[in-house]
Amino acid sequence: MKWDLNLDVSAMLVMMILGIYGIHKKELPLRRNRLFYSVVISVWMVALTDIVSSIMCSFPQIFPVWSLYLINILYYGFKAVNPIAFLFYCLNLESRMKYTKLSTKILVYLPASFMLVLVLSSPLNHLIFSITPEGEFVYGPLRDLLFWESLYFFAISGIYLYRIRKILRSEIWLALNIAIGFSMVGQVLQTFFLPHTQSISLFNSLGILVIFLSYQNPDYFRDRVTTLFDLEGLRTLKAEDLRYRTYRPFVAMQLDNYQDLRLAYGDGNMDRLLEMVGKYIRFQFMDGPKFYVHSGRFMMMFDDNRQRDAAKERLISRFEEPFLLNGEAYYLSTSFFCNGSAISTKSVEEMQLLLELISEEARLRGKGADVTIDEEMYAKIRRQIEVGKALERAILNNSLLVYFQPIYSNHEGRISCAEALVRIRDPELGMIYPDEFIDLAEQNGSIIQLGHQVFEKTCEFICNHDMNELGLDYIEINLSPVQCMREQLSEELQQVLYRRRIDSRRINLEITESNHSGNQIARKNIMELAQYGIEFSLDDYGTGYSNLINVLSLPLKIVKIDKSIVWAYFRDDNPMLLHVLELFKESSLEIVCEGVEDQEMATKLRELGCDYEQGYYYSKPIPEEEFVEYILREKQHA
Ligand code: C2E
Ligand code: CA
Ligand code: CA
Repeated sequence: MKWDLNLDVSAMLVMMILGIYGIHKKELPLRRNRLFYSVVISVWMVALTDIVSSIMCSFPQIFPVWSLYLINILYYGFKAVNPIAFLFYCLNLESRMKYTKLSTKILVYLPASFMLVLVLSSPLNHLIFSITPEGEFVYGPLRDLLFWESLYFFAISGIYLYRIRKILRSEIWLALNIAIGFSMVGQVLQTFFLPHTQSISLFNSLGILVIFLSYQNPDYFRDRVTTLFDLEGLRTLKAEDLRYRTYRPFVAMQLDNYQDLRLAYGDGNMDRLLEMVGKYIRFQFMDGPKFYVHSGRFMMMFDDNRQRDAAKERLISRFEEPFLLNGEAYYLSTSFFCNGSAISTKSVEEMQLLLELISEEARLRGKGADVTIDEEMYAKIRRQIEVGKALERAILNNSLLVYFQPIYSNHEGRISCAEALVRIRDPELGMIYPDEFIDLAEQNGSIIQLGHQVFEKTCEFICNHDMNELGLDYIEINLSPVQCMREQLSEELQQVLYRRRIDSRRINLEITESNHSGNQIARKNIMELAQYGIEFSLDDYGTGYSNLINVLSLPLKIVKIDKSIVWAYFRDDNPMLLHVLELFKESSLEIVCEGVEDQEMATKLRELGCDYEQGYYYSKPIPEEEFVEYILREKQHA
């Protein structure tokens, strides 16, 4: 019999290159990576044993019959194992997808063991193959069963892939299906049409190549600049750790003032520095995966706490020395955070929040901070996640509450307007105040919907009541900077007013100084809305870095002085309030003082020339009906 081994040899070479590349590059310790290489090895072994057995069978006078049996058992064994390894690889791609133990047992282990027993017992029953006493190789009657076995396992893989198609990335999904297609073509060709060519090896290796090139290569999760693993890699590993309950001690390192450094050093130099830090980390700590998360934040995982603490000490002393770039010394100050041994986050989401929180914590504690996550920080994160879900629910159900806080006019001696303030009443968490969710909504973008719903609800209030009868001139609505930077904002708000036939002077939008003055889109929105007749207040005056020139160039009617400045005056005689009042007296801007909590404050502020007052002394923010009752009651008293 004449054997053509070229295809086997090329398949073997391709698999060898992939293997060496993978070992050299170091992979993320994911189960799916290990399983991928087990598929590679099985393809490699099929080709290798095929070559060896063909050669041995050509020289039966040299090799004893038992050795011919042995090599062929290996060949058929690996051939049977290959589609099973492929199936396990598929099953481990998506950590969120669980398959039950029992069904795996019945569908996978049972047929797999049957097939292996059949191959192993070939010397006795000659069902798959046999070797004559003269050393000649003969196909057994059940030889085609190997084809059906492959078909069976690839079909299960295909069905499983179909089931997880929605949660799997499309490139992964496509690559795997192509690989299955290739393998089947190889099987059909070799089994039915070209038994003497090794098309199985060829097509299997082509399939693996497709998978490798599309996403299974060691650079898939690698950050380009630092050559460490990236955030996506961190997420994937974390998801798997959760599934298998693996705890990994980690140390996270933040370059202090990263954004400022980038501005000061320039992007080019900063990237070179990141690259140097990345290299240092990569070659100093060989064990455990290392990540570059983003914005100067690194994360290193270790096998045990002792290793981690030692690594941290080494890093601290390394960063006391400068990094040399183009002959110049760059000092990078860093903060560190570790996970306490008891704390292991329960979701990828949780871990990311944890990272945010600890870098914030480090920022507060100043340069070179060293933070260990404790129960308290962890509880904070859990709460944040719960609040995030409540926010999502409230927006989805359009169940945000809008409360109103009256604002007292000193000139008119009555409540003349109010501020709309959002709340969430959650079935699980109870009442939640905006301090807990506005930042979050701004970060995840849901502030757009939130802002829109609050605007709609406030308009509804205006529609449903006779504003003149209540003596309300307008309602103030908070506008987030994120909303302002949205191109369509002005048009959307105008549409709501137009649709409800609301006079634009009934609305006053509160903006804050730091965010609006610089941005062109924000400025355009504000100008357009002002043109439409909406008035603007500058909120929280005194909490940011005020650039008076910028502020005064906006079409503002009112400035709201933050309660911290008001309180500082009454508590510590801090003269800031007086300066601010003086400053705006010259201009035509009206002044609201916030945080007025008692009569003494109210009287004094009136004497100082403040136009409006807002605070618990008059009323807390209250629900619509209560607010209307309050106004009517106050009117009677007046
Ligand atoms: P803000 O705009 O400065 O609103 C005033 C906050 O001060 C309100 O807190 C109000 O309850 C509180 N306050 C008023 N008078 C007093 C007082 O006399 N003493 C004390 N201790 N506090 C007083 P709230 O409702 O918790 O809102 C917090 C912040 O959340 C608001 O600060 C505002 O920045 C934001 N926010 C609220 N609703 C919305 C909204 O619909 N959209 C946006 N983008 N932000 C909102
Ligand atoms: Ca406000
Ligand atoms: Ca305010």
